[in-house]
Amino acid sequence: MPSAENQQQLDIAAERAKCTFDPSQLTALFYGGEEKMKRLKAIEAMVDREPVFDRTDRYFLGRTERFKRALPMVKRYVELRNEHGLTPEESAHFKVYIDDYIPVHLHESMFLPVLRSQASDEQLKVWGPHAENYHYIGCYAQTELGHGSALSRLETTATLDLATDQWVINSPTQSSAKFWIGTLGKMANHAVVQAKLIIKGKDYGAHPFLVPLRSLKDHTPLPGVVIKDQGPKQGAISMDNGYARFNHVRIPRTNMLMRFSQVSKEGVYSKPIHPKLAYGGMTAVRTTLINHSALSMARAVTIATRYSAVRRQGNVDLKTDLETQVLDYPAVQYRILPLLSHAFATIFSGYWMNEMYAQYNADITKGDTSLLKDVHVYSSGLKSYCTKLGADGIEEARRCLGGHGFSLFSGMIDFHRQFLATVTYEGENALLTQQVSRYLLKLYKDVVRKPDMHLSPPSRYIVSLVDHERFVQQRCAARSMAELYHPEIVLKAFQHRAARLIFELAQAEKQGAQWSDLNLECMRLSKAHVQYIMIENFHNGLEKRYNVSSNPTPEQEALLAAIRSVYNLHVFYTLETELAEFLEDGYFSPEQAAWTRQALKDSLKSVRPNAVGFADCFGFTDKFLNSALGSYDGRAYERMAEMTEYEPLNGKEMTDERGVVWGYEEFLRPLIFGEVGPYKARKPESKL
Ligand SMILES: Cc1cc2nc3c(=O)[nH]c(=O)nc-3n(C[C@H](O)[C@H](O)[C@H](O)COP(=O)(O)OP(=O)(O)OC[C@H]3O[C@@H](n4cnc5c(N)ncnc54)[C@H](O)[C@@H]3O)c2cc1C
Repeated sequence: MPSAENQQQLDIAAERAKCTFDPSQLTALFYGGEEKMKRLKAIEAMVDREPVFDRTDRYFLGRTERFKRALPMVKRYVELRNEHGLTPEESAHFKVYIDDYIPVHLHESMFLPVLRSQASDEQLKVWGPHAENYHYIGCYAQTELGHGSALSRLETTATLDLATDQWVINSPTQSSAKFWIGTLGKMANHAVVQAKLIIKGKDYGAHPFLVPLRSLKDHTPLPGVVIKDQGPKQGAISMDNGYARFNHVRIPRTNMLMRFSQVSKEGVYSKPIHPKLAYGGMTAVRTTLINHSALSMARAVTIATRYSAVRRQGNVDLKTDLETQVLDYPAVQYRILPLLSHAFATIFSGYWMNEMYAQYNADITKGDTSLLKDVHVYSSGLKSYCTKLGADGIEEARRCLGGHGFSLFSGMIDFHRQFLATVTYEGENALLTQQVSRYLLKLYKDVVRKPDMHLSPPSRYIVSLVDHERFVQQRCAARSMAELYHPEIVLKAFQHRAARLIFELAQAEKQGAQWSDLNLECMRLSKAHVQYIMIENFHNGLEKRYNVSSNPTPEQEALLAAIRSVYNLHVFYTLETELAEFLEDGYFSPEQAAWTRQALKDSLKSVRPNAVGFADCFGFTDKFLNSALGSYDGRAYERMAEMTEYEPLNGKEMTDERGVVWGYEEFLRPLIFGEVGPYKARKPESKL
């Protein structure tokens, strides 16, 4: 009989043997196409060759050590970026693959995008080369100690001094200090600071200003600027999120970012053609967070699936005397496999969002802002939904791994801690749902007034509310469980539910409810609308990419069948989780609810044989996963033991050559030899 270790290799090989499709056919989907995948894989190999990015002992390092390790990474990253002329997309992948937030992260992820989108062409001519070449290292400073989501309440001011043609940047109180600003604490020499623009006593609201923070000669903080690292946090350990206060710091008037609003020498303010234009940078980052969510879910699924396939526990097969692979327990499948389906759903919606964003960017150069609202709303809604899906789903998958999932060696913890912040930054998730709902509510009101108005495809279903009497008669058309699998029936159901929630929100508002009392309705509606577009995007993307020809090869058929099973799992998991909202107005019958539950169980069963194939299809390298439990070869137990070799507590500093721990003589020996005195039971009347 093979040892437990060898059995793990046999198990993972058996899983691969029973996979019905070739996993490598799907990898390019997650890399954005074949061509791009080749380039990005070459970048991964480049990172793996560089000792400075080695992650072998990363899990053992504290904050200061991680920051110190990150500094040489920053230098080497910029050297390689320059040497190989990496595009922004390739650079972004480089940093994803390093798998640590190097402390200049915000320079490229926020500072540069905001500068590119909000500085005027003349300003970009001057600042652009400095910023692109890391001569200027920048951060984006919006949040304050006392003010986060409510941008209009920021306290930092930029007051125009007409006499000197300068802005005076001031943070008058402790609550006005900038806080949480990535790359600010130690690294940045410039910040885009959001401050209230004040001219002759009039407040024009928050605007962005380029503010020098540290000397370009020797990196010392400039006069009037107090900067510190803000201290330890949940994730992003190597990042120097920072605190800053400005004491009447003077910058030239022309340091206001002037693509959309301008202020003349005479102090005349011109406002942007569209008030939301100023949020362009945020929209771009939200769009990337959708793709980042897909990647993070896929990563957790890879580890959890591979480990659950090689972990045997519980019920014993009497013929083989082997315990059951835990992935065969439905309770384990139910907590891991839906995350796989969400990763796919998210990647298809990421493609959809990227296309919309690219179109918007092309339009905006011609002064056409018609897509602005959609881009803003869908990037907000998807960011809010997908990051939550990831944050919750990854934790659920981790718990599924039992005790070993609690070890950092699992590879499930370090990256998840970093990922958790995505639900908060770039718009706090719950708040973003209000923007989505407000937009849908407005569309509904408009469409009731003008039923033939143009609606973009994802919101066209709102028209069904115009004839409300007919709307309330709608019922799900499925007459059998098999019919529930028809995409049009499912999509109709999700449209109906979202439309009903829009109507109810409108009614509540009509009856005088305050907007602030409608938070829960907004969360429900935004989720309903986003779940609908996620399913629609998944379905459309799948048909467009994989339903290739009328005469498919057996390989193509197998691939399509496999990925359709994942689509069904996403649909039925989502439907089952939200069943109450389909039942409460009678759209679903109790029988249809029961079919949904059964369809979910069936979907789990049909994905199960291909689970390891799907885990492989994402194309993660073992180096990137940095996981004892989820490596390609399945040698989980051996790797768990091997990784303990790097634990400093097992090293020379903490354990001598005899295997005795540091401090034994002073602290342990006295206990063992009874030198601390005997235990005496305390008498009831005696005090401590
Ligand atoms: C790791 C990390 C990195 C960051 N990096 C940066 C950075 O580089 N630059 C930067 O400027 N900022 C950064 N931030 C800050 C981040 O953008 C803010 O934390 C975020 O915008 C939320 O603001 P807040 O923390 O003030 O939360 P708050 O606004 O105080 O929210 C607290 C709670 O109140 C709720 N709430 C608030 N207002 C309402 C309302 N009107 N209706 C209903 N509920 C409401 C929220 O939903 C939330 O649950 C970072 C944050 C983190 C965690």
